[in-house]
Amino acid sequence: RVLRAFRPEGTRVRAGSVEVGGPGFVVMAGPCAVEGVEQVDRTAAAVAQAGAHVLRGGVFKPRTSPYAFQGMGEPGLQLLADTGRRHGLPIISEVMETAQIPFMAESADILQVGARNMQNFSLLRALGKIRRPVLLKRGLSATVQEWLLAAEYILEGGNEQVLLCERGIRTFETEMRNTLDLAAVAWAKQRTHLPVIVDPSHATGQVELILPMSLAAAAAGADGLLIEVHAKPEQALCDGAQALTPERFQTLMQRLPAVLDAV
Ligand code: PEP
Ligand code: MN
Repeated sequence: RVLRAFRPEGTRVRAGSVEVGGPGFVVMAGPCAVEGVEQVDRTAAAVAQAGAHVLRGGVFKPRTSPYAFQGMGEPGLQLLADTGRRHGLPIISEVMETAQIPFMAESADILQVGARNMQNFSLLRALGKIRRPVLLKRGLSATVQEWLLAAEYILEGGNEQVLLCERGIRTFETEMRNTLDLAAVAWAKQRTHLPVIVDPSHATGQVELILPMSLAAAAAGADGLLIEVHAKPEQALCDGAQALTPERFQTLMQRLPAVLDAV
């Protein structure tokens, strides 16, 4: 069902007034984690002003250590939803388990499945039963076929509003957080009818690499970006080293049109 032959014209995914997979390039931006009222509001104001289309923010964080900040949970989701509404931005947030789906689907415009849950098949099947868009991240070491088959679980349940997200994979390279697989982006665009989003933040882990990789993603045919931005990256509770300042994010937004016009 994910194959291009099922819908040669391509799928358009709708979140509020935003359409992904159409002519427009969609930028989703915001903090890694929702941390508090002021942090979310300042960051949302900055990304909205720079021209982002969707506000991101995790409230359930899949952290490597159980002692690291795990997210604000459901109150954080309400905060993100209120902030998005105030700034006119639909929101995307990660769902980590099936029990979270009812209230996540109620308040979030797009539900994100994180890399670590790409093959959580019971979660994927449950997401196939809802009528909210799902952004499916590629697993840490998933082949492109495994990625598509994971998406297939969601479509098979009846939910065809699925976005594929390339966020870098684990290779022998250790200098960068992950290795951004841009060939997988062009490949997924050819093989499937689903929109493809690139997350240069988790793919590189380094603030200086996010601008060039965002431009490269646009050139490779991605339908949009998912980028971590923080009003004060040095104070971030999660992923501060890869969070763009509002100024850097604005520069990125200003430089995207030239690449998009060229391809
Ligand atoms: C995130 O987007 O904050 C996240 C945890 O990403 P990933 O699942 O790609 O590691
Ligand atoms: Mn993060």
